Amino acid sequence: MPRDPRFDILFETVRIGPVTARNRFFQVPHCSGMGHLLPRTDAAMRAMKAQGGWAVVCTEQCSFHPHAEAAPAPESRLWDGEDVARMRHWTDAVHAHDALAGIELVSNGSSTPNYYSREIPLGPSHTPVTHSHDPVQARAMDLDDMREFRRWHRDAVLRSRDAGFDLVYLYCAHDIAMPMDYVTRRRNRRTDSYGGSLENRVRLLRELLEDTVDAVGGQMAVALRFATDELLGKDGITWEDEGCRVIEMLADLPDLWDVNVSDWTHDSVTSRFSSENFQEPYVSFVKGMVKKPVVCVGRFTSPETMLSLITRGVSDFVGCARPSIADPFIPQKIDEGRLDDIREYIGCNVCVTGQRKKTPMRCTQNPTVGEEWRRGWHPERIEPKGSDSSILVVGAGPAGLECALALGQRGYNVALAEARREPGGRVTDEAAMPGFSEWARVRDYRTYQIGKLHQTVEVFRESEMTPATILESGYRHVAIATGSSWRKDGIGRANTAGPIPGSDGDHVLTPDSIFRGMTPVSPVVVFDDDHYYMGGALAEQFHSAGLEVILVTPAPVVSSWTVDALEQNTIQSRLVAMGVRIVTGHNLARVDADAVEVDGVYGEGTQTIACATVVMVTSRLPNDSLYHDLRTSPERLAGAGILSVRRIGDALAPGLIAAAVWSGHRYARELDAPPPGDVPFRRELVVV
Ligand code: ADP
Repeated sequence: MPRDPRFDILFETVRIGPVTARNRFFQVPHCSGMGHLLPRTDAAMRAMKAQGGWAVVCTEQCSFHPHAEAAPAPESRLWDGEDVARMRHWTDAVHAHDALAGIELVSNGSSTPNYYSREIPLGPSHTPVTHSHDPVQARAMDLDDMREFRRWHRDAVLRSRDAGFDLVYLYCAHDIAMPMDYVTRRRNRRTDSYGGSLENRVRLLRELLEDTVDAVGGQMAVALRFATDELLGKDGITWEDEGCRVIEMLADLPDLWDVNVSDWTHDSVTSRFSSENFQEPYVSFVKGMVKKPVVCVGRFTSPETMLSLITRGVSDFVGCARPSIADPFIPQKIDEGRLDDIREYIGCNVCVTGQRKKTPMRCTQNPTVGEEWRRGWHPERIEPKGSDSSILVVGAGPAGLECALALGQRGYNVALAEARREPGGRVTDEAAMPGFSEWARVRDYRTYQIGKLHQTVEVFRESEMTPATILESGYRHVAIATGSSWRKDGIGRANTAGPIPGSDGDHVLTPDSIFRGMTPVSPVVVFDDDHYYMGGALAEQFHSAGLEVILVTPAPVVSSWTVDALEQNTIQSRLVAMGVRIVTGHNLARVDADAVEVDGVYGEGTQTIACATVVMVTSRLPNDSLYHDLRTSPERLAGAGILSVRRIGDALAPGLIAAAVWSGHRYARELDAPPPGDVPFRRELVVV
């Protein structure tokens, strides 16, 4: 289909200093958890975005000198000439698809302990390293340090040029960058010409910008990533005051302004706590103050929002990080009039958890991310089928939907049988929780795409399969995607020996019973030994329904794993503000008819909490009885002409939705393919 002319404006070229972007789609710098340890993996992932039509593709933050390094995070590095070849590989990969290559040089200043380099962290003032409890202090820089710092930075700018970059970033955002340590009053207690007034606090940033502009000599564009607001009110930078004044002071120095809010938790908010384009109120003023192009972000997935961003003059570029991970081909799909094919980001921050765990990022919506190089997976292309086999996929949750879709795209004949009327499995259930509606995109994208494959993929709703109906079905391969069930007995991490006494009572529920329509009676205790979003989300849901809620968890904080999705603080603060009683550091010892007994994990002893209902959020068991039943008799399978029965997704092992999607995708990729070796993917080895 041709492009809708309304979107033509998104495909105009934009000049950024000495270089020209072919359109307005801009992948702003974002971490990947790949960095200098997995350079081919990272380059292939970025090249996919260039191929998908992004005009500018940027690196993650790239350390330019050992005075600030992010170990154990494997961030990019450009410390000396030895790193140039690796980064040249990166720019070549991006240039191969006609995108501009941008590099975000970074000094993490006083926010990194430097466990690898063992250099003392540097900052404007003496301070414990920020954003962690590491027992390390940064030392205040003197003027010699600052001269050296500027030289390191300038040398790195020249190395960026040697590595083939078109655009070099100066990074003053997210509260993890040296220039920002100087700009924000919170971190700068200097009394010399680099502290005190805003002019003084901006001095280093201005000098670095001037050094950069001078060093590139008009050969590369210079971008400034600047946080206009820290969302801390008068304690931090606010866009109306210091944010605005900094932009005024530096307005025409950089060739491009990349503006956002700080810190990372505020910038990369999940869909649970923000809507698309949530940053506009903090950044829309910038375009009126500068003559240079502006890029901003805001979890953009809707072409209409992108269009309005440009037509209303909010920004010159559509800046994306997370949406470009979920769908590296957004620009191409808009260009080809295939808006319905966009695989919309759901706002879960699973990508961020990968980076925070110092491992290659994953994506709930895009199972191919990180697999471009090591497994050769392309997000839009898949090998044609390897045989004329037909496949029965049992269960239309995330695993079954993705499996049926990818098999259908390969050209196989597929039947997708779902017991319920509504497809989506756990995604359909969980998307009904407060704040989770965008998660339904996992289902909606796939059901829509499967609908287009009606000649090869047939969907049977309200079709609960049994061993007998599967054996009769005549399909050659069976993929069991029947999901998992929450345990009622409380067994999980803190309780392993056996069921929690009293957990068999009728007033003990699970998330599954809530999803099936059971209503807890107030007061309700939510026992969260799962530690991801479910316990906190149900507590919020029950409270919103007018129930008195007590959340008990053995962990020191609520929903502790959500720290890595940048949500934990918001989740706990909201529950506190609502009036949910939070009992951390306590395990559930016993359930009685009208109360529970909880036990302090640090030896505080027991206490009794009165309640009418207990909701167990501890762990799940795979729904795999179908699989085991079928596997009891290989003869019966052979008699039915069934070549294989395999489990995928939560039926294999309960996990993240991202893991279920990936599992379904992997099944489809590997069917009729040569068996993978013991190490099922290519590795990037350090050669000695
Ligand atoms: P996953 O995350 O692995 O995809 P889900 O729990 O989200 O797992 O989805 C499993 C789906 O399988 C649910 O929609 C459920 O209704 C369906 N299902 C379970 N057992 C059967 C069965 N015997 N026949 C058909 N569908 C089933």
